[in-house]
Amino acid sequence: MDLRAEKWTDRGARALARNVAAATGWGRVYADGAVTTSNAWIMAGRDGLKRKVAVGYSGKRPKWTQALRGTEKTVAGSCVLLLDADHDTLAALRNALPFLQPRPTGKTPSFGFGDRTGMATPGHLLALEGSGFFPNLAQQSIREMTRTQRSPAEVLDAAVFGALQSGHVTGFGADADHLKTLDDVDRCAEAGFVSFTLDAIEKVIDAAPRMNDADLEQAYRKILAEVPAAKGWEKKYSGKTFTFEKKVAVRMEGRAFREAIVKYGRAIPYWIEMEKRVRQKTKGRACEIEIAVDETGAVTTGAEHVFIARELAERGMSFQGFAPRFVGEFEKGVDYKGERQVLEDSVVEHAVLARAHGGYKISVHSGSDKFSIYPMIAKATEGRFHLKTAGTSWMEAVRVIARKDPALFREMCDFVRGQFAKDRASYHISGDPSKVPAPGTLSDADLERVYVDEDDGRQIMHVTYGSAFTAQDASGAWLFRDRIFAVLAKDEELYTTCLQKHLGRHVKGLKIKKVAKKRATVKA
Ligand SMILES: [Zn+2]
Repeated sequence: MDLRAEKWTDRGARALARNVAAATGWGRVYADGAVTTSNAWIMAGRDGLKRKVAVGYSGKRPKWTQALRGTEKTVAGSCVLLLDADHDTLAALRNALPFLQPRPTGKTPSFGFGDRTGMATPGHLLALEGSGFFPNLAQQSIREMTRTQRSPAEVLDAAVFGALQSGHVTGFGADADHLKTLDDVDRCAEAGFVSFTLDAIEKVIDAAPRMNDADLEQAYRKILAEVPAAKGWEKKYSGKTFTFEKKVAVRMEGRAFREAIVKYGRAIPYWIEMEKRVRQKTKGRACEIEIAVDETGAVTTGAEHVFIARELAERGMSFQGFAPRFVGEFEKGVDYKGERQVLEDSVVEHAVLARAHGGYKISVHSGSDKFSIYPMIAKATEGRFHLKTAGTSWMEAVRVIARKDPALFREMCDFVRGQFAKDRASYHISGDPSKVPAPGTLSDADLERVYVDEDDGRQIMHVTYGSAFTAQDASGAWLFRDRIFAVLAKDEELYTTCLQKHLGRHVKGLKIKKVAKKRATVKA
């Protein structure tokens, strides 16, 4: 059965959407996202905050709709199946329709969108339109899911619905970000994720570069005793210089060798264990792995990169992305702080090492709002990169709330200012709340400037999203969560436009169009 889908863009779709809205009473039917497939059409809708889907057909009900549970109604002469777009419906649609199944990003330049509200996908897709980037729509770390009290399945459902709402038929990815345990892997594999970002931080000895020589030696001996494969590492690496593309020479001498072994010696077998678990739990589904060390305490050296890449490859592991910890500050939500030339040299070095070890992409985390370095990243990696963003989309939701519901904004802002000291702990930021006037002292017009556009206020709102989403009153009711969603649903077009504009600036700065055209491999 041919289940290719096509976007349905003529006037007929809009007329039909009006008919569906009239017949159902749904507040919104997304005509611009209408899709046709195998003698049927599909349209997403929304009734208040409830997601809806309508599937129409003439004649016999298509086979692929058999798993869908809804009510049938005649609308403008066609049979229409009206569905609540709950988890069962979205999972059934995903099973039946290939364009709604997440897929790996492969070698195409790719863009990761964390969506903590579950309503940002349409804006994300508009921002990428015509860019050549492959979108990872459902990108969420376990930390983010815990903080917003969302499950991996809910995150994926939101992305699938967003793709349907946008009529996006050219594929998207789903990135289970910063997985640290086998249990994290299990939960995300079961939900249907296809990109697995493995973070072995719990096995990394982060203090290695700060140890004195005696402590480093002692730690090195301990790794030799603990990790069976470590016995061969001295012979393989110690004192050697590895040269790549005639321009990058990585010396593994003295401390450089010992630091790499101490820092990552225990992580190597753990990454292998995690990868095995991914393969086992995804049962043949096409998947990809990213190795992330960006949250380690010190800059990732060339020696560490070479050691990790070679040891993982030798154990048969192939990965699609590597996220180093870069030099300088990649603070959340603000531009890059640091020596740009030093950063460029290190991105070039990592890109050369990536090409030499299988051609995986360099993954840039905390990648939003780094406008000053985007052209360099695209060039230095020759377009072979992945950029992750997340909180910046939440900040566009904050912008909409500041603009459309200043009273809710003030209440929420007062509350999260009190949570900042606690919430910032796991993030790398320097925002200083004492520099930011309390929202009660600002006019409505100034709220957005101070708390969304200026760095100190922006960082306060950036890291306290979890507190905003999960604060409860004495009776256990959400303080802000439902009201946040209500504002975003009511002013959905504004939220989408803000996201398109802000993330569109990122995409423009990255200028990958030419490279992407050559490399694009994704087919609808
Ligand atoms: Zn990261």
